[in-house]
Amino acid sequence: MSDIHTIGVIGAGTMGNGIAHVFARSGFTVHLCEVEQRFLDRGLSTIRKNLSREVEKSKLTQADADQALARIHGTLDRASLSACDFLVEAATERFEIKSEIFRDLDRIARPEVILATNTSSISITKLAAQTARPDRVIGMHFFNPVPMMKLVEVIRGLATSQPTFDTVRSLAERLGKSPVEVNDAPGFVSNRVLMPLLNEAMFAVMEGVATPEAVDEVFKLGMAHPMGPLTLADFIGLDVCLDIMRVLHDGLGDPKYRPCPLLIRMVDAGWLGRKSGRGFYTYNTQ
Ligand code: NAD
Repeated sequence: MSDIHTIGVIGAGTMGNGIAHVFARSGFTVHLCEVEQRFLDRGLSTIRKNLSREVEKSKLTQADADQALARIHGTLDRASLSACDFLVEAATERFEIKSEIFRDLDRIARPEVILATNTSSISITKLAAQTARPDRVIGMHFFNPVPMMKLVEVIRGLATSQPTFDTVRSLAERLGKSPVEVNDAPGFVSNRVLMPLLNEAMFAVMEGVATPEAVDEVFKLGMAHPMGPLTLADFIGLDVCLDIMRVLHDGLGDPKYRPCPLLIRMVDAGWLGRKSGRGFYTYNTQ
């Protein structure tokens, strides 16, 4: 644990840039790896914006924000992650993409380095089996927006060792987060319970039971949720929601996890929620 100084983050999207942000803010050097320069630029510019926002809110001094930013190094060359002491994968939620990354990271990283994944729903055990170090593979599941949300689900795969678990739990605490221990099962705890709620809210809209606004009002005013389920689905990304519903459906084999056809149609149309400017609501993407 005390020998972890340099972190590699794979993927600079919604979650990857937030993960890089919190590690850098806590004093770690971060190598942020993407597949294309434009995605890297977008991730780095989000980090810059979010750090400035923290300075405006007096959560951080300008000097600390500048130092955090200076600790983040963008790269398109995965091989450069060989210098890292800990790796967190936050790439697109597809098993084919993640399994290729894990096979490669296993080759690149020193044998003692832990490979963590921020997956929302893919089996940690299956990802671990892509490597020759399944005892050092673990789920480190952050929540969106990463700089603000306290929870980190720490997910043990079948072969995850106790030292690996202990290291990740202490790392999460060093980031100011609250780790919660969970075993590997489709959707873990968070998405196994949350996603069917969001999916059912979509069925209610599709079947004309209520408008998105009305569904969200019910949950905000009646259940004291800070955000209604459809606003939350737009925030998470409808493509991410669909991918997770498919993992629950396939993994648990119960028809109650069938993805809502309206969700499938919206993703087919490219209506991915806040990030694409349109989902259940419309957003100004400027
Ligand atoms: P995203 O689409 O915003 O970002 C994914 C990024 O990964 C993209 O920028 C893409 O270019 C990059 N990428 C794809 N293949 C890559 C590769 N081979 N190497 C490097 N980068 C690659 O997705 P996201 O919302 O940030 O989700 C990332 C992961 O975090 C997923 O596993 C998702 O399930 C999980 N997650 C998402 C949320 C959420 O609210 N969005 C919450 C918790 C966990």
